[in-house]
Amino acid sequence: MAYECKVYDKNGKLKKIVKESQLTKNGKEIFNQPSTKKITSFINSFKDPTVEINKDTKFYNKVCVVCKKEFHPRHPNSKYCSHECQKSLYLAKKKVAKKRKEKNGSPG
Ligand SMILES: [Zn+2]
Repeated sequence: MAYECKVYDKNGKLKKIVKESQLTKNGKEIFNQPSTKKITSFINSFKDPTVEINKDTKFYNKVCVVCKKEFHPRHPNSKYCSHECQKSLYLAKKKVAKKRKEKNGSPG
């Protein structure tokens, strides 16, 4: 059986016609599949992989609220350049809160 596979772009414009002789072995096999489900999954395998591509990741210019160093987090809400800074601020806040409590706490 001779056939042609017409490839269109997204605007519906004919891009190329793949003739039987131009198909790869896999391509030929897929056209012989009795199940459209298999063919669909085969075609889907040609789609772009949904793997995260790092080159498109935007990094933000932020200054660490603890050590005032410039850092480039992946998220615009990041405040700390490192876990150490986050921890130290957390501990400092805790200390202040404790002090306040001690000051304001009514004795006895
Ligand atoms: Zn820092």
